[in-house]
Amino acid sequence: MARINLRKISPTKRYTVRELANKLNITPRAIYLKLKDGLPSFPMKKKLHILGEEFIEYEKTKRVKRKQYIKESEFWCCSCKNKREPLNKEVKIEDFSQTNKKVQKNTILLTSVCPVCKNQMFKFSNTSKIEEIKSMFKTKE
Ligand SMILES: [Zn+2]
Repeated sequence: MARINLRKISPTKRYTVRELANKLNITPRAIYLKLKDGLPSFPMKKKLHILGEEFIEYEKTKRVKRKQYIKESEFWCCSCKNKREPLNKEVKIEDFSQTNKKVQKNTILLTSVCPVCKNQMFKFSNTSKIEEIKSMFKTKE
């Protein structure tokens, strides 16, 4: 699913499903899925309407949740759009601050493979967590 640009939504406006979908350049079906998932709406002139403010709130909560729910033992798979445990619990550790000077010192890059789609998954961590990471995964450096 494409990333939703919340700046296109005015908090004080109300939108029909179709208007909202057009504004965000996503399908009405994607909006219906959000409604089913708990996005608040109200009926007006026989059509469902969504308040801009409530939509923004809903999306923001979603984003926070998505972040929090990933456990130390999990990665976020960008292809599956889901959290996954690495294939065979194998994780490659790279000292990222050595290769990329822009990142903070002690930043490490963890690479693993998604067990479902077999694409690579990435996650940043910190050298202070290396022992914990090593106890959780089969690591390669
Ligand atoms: Zn995947």
